[in-house]
Amino acid sequence: MTKSEGMTNDEARSLTLRHSGFVISSAFVLRASSFLFWIFPLALYAADHLTVLASKPRWSVLENYQETITHDEFTHLIRDIYCTHGLGDDLLKIDNDSAQILKNRDAQTFFTLRFANDEASRREVPRLWRPAESLPPARPEKPLAGLRIALDPGHLGGRWAKMEERWFQVGDAPAVQEGDLALRTARILAPQLRKLGAKVFFVRKSAEPITSKRPDDFRELARKILIKNGVPQPRADVLDPNDPAKEQTVRWQSEILFYRYSEIRRRAVLVNTKLHPDLVLCLHFNAEDWGDPSNPTLIETNHLHLLINGSYLKDELEFDDERFEMVRRLLSRVCDEELPLADAAAASLAKATGLPPYQYPTTLTTTKVGPSGYVYARNLLATRLYRCPVVYCEPYVMNSRDVFARIQAGDYDGTRNVNGTERKSIFREYADGVAEGLVEYYRKARK
Ligand SMILES: [Zn+2]
Repeated sequence: MTKSEGMTNDEARSLTLRHSGFVISSAFVLRASSFLFWIFPLALYAADHLTVLASKPRWSVLENYQETITHDEFTHLIRDIYCTHGLGDDLLKIDNDSAQILKNRDAQTFFTLRFANDEASRREVPRLWRPAESLPPARPEKPLAGLRIALDPGHLGGRWAKMEERWFQVGDAPAVQEGDLALRTARILAPQLRKLGAKVFFVRKSAEPITSKRPDDFRELARKILIKNGVPQPRADVLDPNDPAKEQTVRWQSEILFYRYSEIRRRAVLVNTKLHPDLVLCLHFNAEDWGDPSNPTLIETNHLHLLINGSYLKDELEFDDERFEMVRRLLSRVCDEELPLADAAAASLAKATGLPPYQYPTTLTTTKVGPSGYVYARNLLATRLYRCPVVYCEPYVMNSRDVFARIQAGDYDGTRNVNGTERKSIFREYADGVAEGLVEYYRKARK
């Protein structure tokens, strides 16, 4: 479920509020509901333009990418994948033989990226992950041989699901918790991928967070954010969970700093410094607004989509760390891998689930990419920070009648009749669809 888990937000996009002389941008939306709440850059030191919990970009890293990309390829990736909503010359200026990327607005310093003259003379792209075409040939029954895959079950499970608002319960039926469903799917998918030859790692192995921080560790930061956002005396605690003003409490803000920003940044450290995968699969279940979680609305709508990184908003590109991560991601050429991979996984998931493609209600934050019709570019924290190809899966609307019944049916062998149709368990259908897509892609892409 992504409707609110990124730094981008549909409703928020159209508004740029000004407050106390600061531009409050959509990049800082922690979560938006009926009441839109904005979070500031934590630029407590004046010259920093950084997003929440980000560290300063190390621009010198980009020196490794000099002359690794042509002007045309760079321009194509900027226009069609990463900056589909445009960006100003003051942030990134593309000349014939180089691009000037703003490092720091106050100091007016720029990074100069020199282009390769042509494809034939360009230098090799430095990277720690391996594209499919660089992997040695594999036996037909082991198409994923040697591939390092990290499974990232979205969110947290167990007692954390309520805090994350990834929880609903119909009557006395077992509660539906996205984080637990995602982990269950990952546990079924892992042995399948291992059988196909892959080395598989878990970014999250249990219901628990991997960050050692807890909401209380962020109370002071939450208070500062609220004060900067024009809440001079923030309340400590949420009194009524249905009151939209809960977003103005220290409790609510410190929880989101914990389970989203701290947790996802911690996962990125694990992925980037320990696991070094060739691919991360983010596993989620989608949902539509269910209203009161204790009396949720069940609907008929059901759909599927997948996300890759891209479609940065102009406001997001104002932040030094986001602009830097975008350029680094572009230069590492993850897109060459994650887009065809996402397309292959989309095709096989569509076949396995029979689901239609999700249509975002607005094109303001996402951009449809690739031929399948199921894949969008979107700038989420996880798809941005993991330094390797990332395919982010969003099948199934958990509060659709059909999916709810299948979740309640649990996991089982073979097929069962659910609402009049013979179906595999929802977890196996999901895992099989993903595994089949990877087989399809790597069989073709490996030499
Ligand atoms: Zn999710």
